[in-house]
Amino acid sequence: MAWDFSTEPEFQEQLDWVADFCVNEIEPLDLVFPGAAWSRNPKARALADPLKQQVKDRGLWALFLDKDLGGPGFGQLKLALLNEILGRYRSAPVMFGTAAPDTGNMEMLAAYGTPEQKERWLTPLLNQEIFSAYSMTEPQGGSDPNLFKTHAVRDGDEWVISGEKWFTSAGERADIIFVMCTNGMFVVPHETPGVEIMDFPRLHNHIRYNNVRVPADHLLGPEDGAKVLAQRRLGGGRIHHAMRTVAQVRLAFDMMCERALSRESHGKVIAEHQMVQEAIADTYAEINMLRLLVLWTAWTIDHSSTREARTQIAACKYTMGKVLREVSYRALHMMGSLGTTNLTPLQAMYAGAPTMAIADGVDEVHKVTVARNVLKGYQPHEGLWPTEYIPAKRDQARKKFEGLIAADPELAAWADAAVRHAERG
Ligand SMILES: Cc1cc2nc3c(=O)[nH]c(=O)nc-3n(C[C@H](O)[C@H](O)[C@H](O)COP(=O)(O)OP(=O)(O)OC[C@H]3O[C@@H](n4cnc5c(N)ncnc54)[C@H](O)[C@@H]3O)c2cc1C
Repeated sequence: MAWDFSTEPEFQEQLDWVADFCVNEIEPLDLVFPGAAWSRNPKARALADPLKQQVKDRGLWALFLDKDLGGPGFGQLKLALLNEILGRYRSAPVMFGTAAPDTGNMEMLAAYGTPEQKERWLTPLLNQEIFSAYSMTEPQGGSDPNLFKTHAVRDGDEWVISGEKWFTSAGERADIIFVMCTNGMFVVPHETPGVEIMDFPRLHNHIRYNNVRVPADHLLGPEDGAKVLAQRRLGGGRIHHAMRTVAQVRLAFDMMCERALSRESHGKVIAEHQMVQEAIADTYAEINMLRLLVLWTAWTIDHSSTREARTQIAACKYTMGKVLREVSYRALHMMGSLGTTNLTPLQAMYAGAPTMAIADGVDEVHKVTVARNVLKGYQPHEGLWPTEYIPAKRDQARKKFEGLIAADPELAAWADAAVRHAERG
């Protein structure tokens, strides 16, 4: 029997180790030295690097990369189970070498980079000696790549890039930026003359590329191949976000249940009020629906490919934002006034829900993808009636029993009465 919801004992042992490691090592560091995991400050690095080394020693570093791309080849299902833990802690994805936006950029490099490009950028990215950003969205339009204008012109041994990008996460602190042009994907070192970081927004940067010159070998993949590379990059990124979202909503659920049992109102603990029970019951079901969708998608990627799983990935994309919004709101609400402050993780989680519905493609676009792909498996019905129109189906079925009915008037009468009875019912 191939359908199985169990985790193999060896990997469960790893997951148990990860859970303890996150509670005992990563969370305390996050609370006292926030940002140490990605800081360039040598003292902060000295705190984070030994933890990263422990992850490497356990063979859990950069699990997102498949074997054929130079990773450990654990597959997406195991990554999903790992991310269900890591997603609770701010710096855990960086500590395990599985943080966006570097992961998607590394996937592109691993799949499309030349051996020289891999040596120059992939290895240092994997080792977190450098960090990267991804510059695709433009101020005039993000959902429709046909509106993008940034382009590159070949000039001798160089490409000259001109354009304007918007919402390049961590662009300011990145060492290299993957810039999607209308005619190719380019790797642009941050320090290249002409890269102009605007003042706002602060974390997701507005960047002007003013005649930025890069050597010819900074083109990644084929000329005119940017859309293919972008799809490759974003498909993986979306499912990884969904895996971490499962961790977030489980955290919210834990907080909700603890609160329900701890707080009293109108003579009883609030867990005994039916509307609180309804909130808990709905949340339990919604989290598990999301989780199973994500695990099924990860399983499909492992057993076929990211391309084969694209309808499922799109479904994960818009489901995660919705579940995150609903669950974080319910948990925040159950916390009462405390929930509205930044003294618990819930306010930030709730504020992050719209981002999940916008970043990596707005939900509407993914719903269109799902509807289009699903409808490919259907045909319009012939004639006036839908396929499941019962009288027509019954007429068809009668043909199968024609001989029997003709030969046995008593049985025919019984059948007529039974049908009349069923039609009334
Ligand atoms: C926190 C965060 C981080 C991000 N990081 C990056 C990054 O690192 N690199 C990067 O390149 N980009 C990044 N983005 C940008 C993101 O990819 C875009 O915001 C997204 O693609 C939507 O583009 P837009 O903002 O221009 O919205 P628009 O395309 O203008 O869409 C606005 C609204 O219009 C409607 N709409 C649009 N298209 C359709 C449609 N086809 N059908 C129905 N309704 C539609 C929807 O309601 C949508 O919400 C980030 C965004 C956020 C919020």
